[in-house]
Amino acid sequence: MHELAITASVLNLALQYAGNAQPETAHTPHITDLHLVIGQLSSVIDDSVQFYWDIISQNTPAEGSRLHFRRIPAEFECEICYAHYPMHGDDFTCPECGSAEVRIAAGEEFYLEAIDVDEVNEKEVTP
Ligand SMILES: [Zn+2]
Repeated sequence: MHELAITASVLNLALQYAGNAQPETAHTPHITDLHLVIGQLSSVIDDSVQFYWDIISQNTPAEGSRLHFRRIPAEFECEICYAHYPMHGDDFTCPECGSAEVRIAAGEEFYLEAIDVDEVNEKEVTP
């Protein structure tokens, strides 16, 4: 269920951004695309985020926008020999020295990378 809270915070960020994107006008641009980064080890399920997004973005400037997910592969660092290595199956131990004392170097990310908004058409109406 934590995807709902996560999705709500993404929406808040997006709406704040959209409100600040055109500070000189009262018009809030429409959000068209959001680019999210999800680490391989993050427990966030993108299908769930999309599901909640479609519900909670209704009646906001983000309604109908598309979510794009970029996956970051997991990477570990050995605390003994400081080797960096990618995830290999379910085995977390260091391939260099066999140590199990390792830390996660990458793969737990979850953040909003970029937002696309519609250009606001502020064309002067000349008679
Ligand atoms: Zn090692």
